[in-house]
Amino acid sequence: MQHYPASVAELAVRQYAPLCVRVGLDWCVQELWGNPGHYGYAGLQQGGDLRDAELAFHGFEFEPDESEHHWPFLATPSGMSAHCCVQAVDDCYVVTWFEADREHAETQKIQQVANEVRILSYRRNQLMVQLQEAQETLAKQEQELRLANRQQARFISGVSHEFRTPLSSILGYSQRLRREAPLGEPIGGLDVIERNALHLLGLVENLLDHGLLTSGQLQLSPSSVNVQALLADVQQMIGHVAEARGLAFRVVCADNVPAHVWVDEMRLRQVLINLLDNAIKYTKKGAVDLSLAWAGNHIHIEVSDTGPGITAELQERIFVPFSRVGEHDGNGVGLGLSIVRQLVQRMGGRLELKSRLGVGTKFDIHLPAAPVRGEASRVDTRVEQPVVVLAEDDPDLADLLSVYLEDAGLMVLRVESARALLEVAVTSRPHLVLVDKNLSGMGTGFKAIAGLRDEGYQGPVIACSADEPAEAAESALSVGADMFFSKPLDCRATVAACLRLLGVEE
Ligand code: ADP
Repeated sequence: MQHYPASVAELAVRQYAPLCVRVGLDWCVQELWGNPGHYGYAGLQQGGDLRDAELAFHGFEFEPDESEHHWPFLATPSGMSAHCCVQAVDDCYVVTWFEADREHAETQKIQQVANEVRILSYRRNQLMVQLQEAQETLAKQEQELRLANRQQARFISGVSHEFRTPLSSILGYSQRLRREAPLGEPIGGLDVIERNALHLLGLVENLLDHGLLTSGQLQLSPSSVNVQALLADVQQMIGHVAEARGLAFRVVCADNVPAHVWVDEMRLRQVLINLLDNAIKYTKKGAVDLSLAWAGNHIHIEVSDTGPGITAELQERIFVPFSRVGEHDGNGVGLGLSIVRQLVQRMGGRLELKSRLGVGTKFDIHLPAAPVRGEASRVDTRVEQPVVVLAEDDPDLADLLSVYLEDAGLMVLRVESARALLEVAVTSRPHLVLVDKNLSGMGTGFKAIAGLRDEGYQGPVIACSADEPAEAAESALSVGADMFFSKPLDCRATVAACLRLLGVEE
């Protein structure tokens, strides 16, 4: 057999400090290479019994057919770990030790990491099970909550209905009594009956709204709202109440507020009336102000008064529904502001309250609202037939809509591409444009709307799409559409909207 080069033997000695001992079959040491002290066998010498130095060899015998036996990671008396091997060679044994301390430490480290991985994977499995359980519980609770909310909404709307019907009779009959009374003869108690019936009616309306809001069933109906007309209405409703209480009531609308904005008129009106009602109710002297300003893509509304202010403690509770139940001062149950805030939030806005005791209270509302263009284009149908461009590349839907539009007395020009839409808008000067989001050419129909507006088209534009409604509506309004309809289209409602935007009586 070829010998290793001396450098390799040297390296092996440095790295593994081999100790080799030849013993007779009686374990008596015959010859010895290496340093026994390194492994803790310091007393080992020729003629000694190897088993006295290393107890592992006591009682050792080879298995049948075995001529070599290994003790991996044998713990030696010096505390060192070694690989030990006994070979049966002729009529003696050759025992060899190789230092395995580093390998042992590495193996232990690997073992430890493996253990940690095992523990982590056990923990992960446990967490997965817990997560799944939590998700199931959550889903169940959500379902129960939805059911409870639906039941609550049904209950509240049922109760509200039960109240509303007799209240309508009370109010109706009291008005009749007032009408039928001989002129100048007051009917005792009629004012009290009416005031109380109206108070109850207000409570019932609030209860109903609260039920709809908490169960997520309140539907908004945004439309094009004439801001000045709305303010005039509010001024008329609130003005005389303020006057009767000796308060000044001022309405200020900044010049840059668009003439028409796209919001839910009824809900906006409800918010304003509620805040103004409170302001007047709690202010003894001074003024109540309503101001509107335009901030790019939202209206900033301020309702302020010179009333007593609201304590910090009350400011905490004021928006919590039913927070005033049990305070028997006859001023309501504390639903008003809770509904106002929820309505503002539902419309995508936010409500802030600032109040100083003895100075007054101010409610700030930031309400997203798209400006509406083209409202002014009222068509005189006695003189001309209104022209509508229908940009829809689905021929079936285009056929159907055309029938409805023509039945309503409108002239329909059909186009299928964005390019054709822009051309016909220039050549035919339509009174209204109805555009589907997905048109061929120039990207989408919505891009074509932006193009129309860039070209200076002022008429009303109605956009429609089968995409997710909220997002599609937002992008349609942001490029200049006045109104958005989600597909499948309700043809009747679409035509009614066209007529309304054209100012044509149905
Ligand atoms: P309620 O319907 O009972 O009046 P609201 O939610 O409208 O309930 O108002 C809750 C409470 O907030 C009122 O009872 C009143 O104490 C206080 N509050 C509301 N608006 C004003 C205001 N402008 N000035 C002072 N206090 C107010």
